Amino acid sequence: MAAPPHWVGVLLTPRVPGCTCGCMGTAHLTIDLAALAANWRALDALSAPSVETAAVVKADGYGLGARQVARTLLDAGARRFFVAVAEEGAAIRETVGPEREICVFSGHMPGDAEMIAAQGLVPILNSIEQLTRHFESLPGHPFGVQLDSGMNRLGLEPVEWSAVREVILGQNPALVMSHLACADDPSDPMNHRQLATFREMTEGVAVPLSLSATGGILMGPEFHFDVTRPGIGLYGGLPFSDAAPVVGLSIPVIQVREIAAGEIVGYGGSWLADTPTRVATLSAGYADGLIRAMGNEAVLFHGDVPCPLVGRVSMDLLTVDVSHLPEVPEALDILGPQQSVDDLADAAETIGYEILTSLGPRYRRSYI
Ligand SMILES: *Cc1c(COP(=O)(O)O)cnc(C)c1O
Repeated sequence: MAAPPHWVGVLLTPRVPGCTCGCMGTAHLTIDLAALAANWRALDALSAPSVETAAVVKADGYGLGARQVARTLLDAGARRFFVAVAEEGAAIRETVGPEREICVFSGHMPGDAEMIAAQGLVPILNSIEQLTRHFESLPGHPFGVQLDSGMNRLGLEPVEWSAVREVILGQNPALVMSHLACADDPSDPMNHRQLATFREMTEGVAVPLSLSATGGILMGPEFHFDVTRPGIGLYGGLPFSDAAPVVGLSIPVIQVREIAAGEIVGYGGSWLADTPTRVATLSAGYADGLIRAMGNEAVLFHGDVPCPLVGRVSMDLLTVDVSHLPEVPEALDILGPQQSVDDLADAAETIGYEILTSLGPRYRRSYI
């Protein structure tokens, strides 16, 4: 509907932007580093003092900034960090200092030798091919080994391991690890099957052993071994249901309009007003990781009041029904104490991991 020419008055009365955070049009991502540290300590407290709790900071610290995250977890007490690829290890080396161990899950890839050596990274070797590459290009350089206890993703199979085990152990690996496929569901029988396989494969092995990420830590001491590798729980995600929320995301309102019954909103007209509706258009979209599957499903919040997303998610915009709010706020929250990354993930039929690691580069970020 056409707006009356208020603009004349607006031109005569310049408005001061009301947002107290000082931003204008940029969505604002808040990362609570104290909550991150508290989550590390809480997960650390779930295992015996003899068990080392490491920290997984791959994918740019699950999207929250690997350096800031690593610095915080270092101060909290983490001594060993895990990343996915060598470049991610190089990115945090200066932050964590020369002494801390940085392990690389993808192992020793072709062309990585120089970076592994220069940055003092510990590749977790996954195959005979990687073992060969490592011993040939960097003899004597520290390494770990991943065993496949049943996930069939990375690591040496039991037959391969038994063939090379004595030779490898003679080279004194820094860590022997495996990974659980189904630890988000403690009742899944796969967990104990993998535990038994890992025990069998590591019988008599006198180097530090590691099996569990966040889910395995929650399943109890038999899964802990010497080193645990939490990731998602640190960042406030399930399966660590007691996690403190780490991320807040507030998205500014650009424009508000009144929609008449029978009018559509957004691409494809996927939402149709059945009564007069006030719709706010917000400045973030799927290019910022608010994935398209949230369209017509997710809710945003003004304080504790939910406001449904209506219509499709655009690349840079969201449209939200704010009819029930007494006045339209400057911004609405999509992540925060009212809505966790997992709540939002449910609306988009995905998991908290994907919501976090999709958060785009356009946000103004504040670390508190
Ligand atoms: C990502 C990853 C982790 C951390 O898992 P979370 O479920 O995020 O705690 C640990 N180990 C390996 C091998 C991983 O790939």
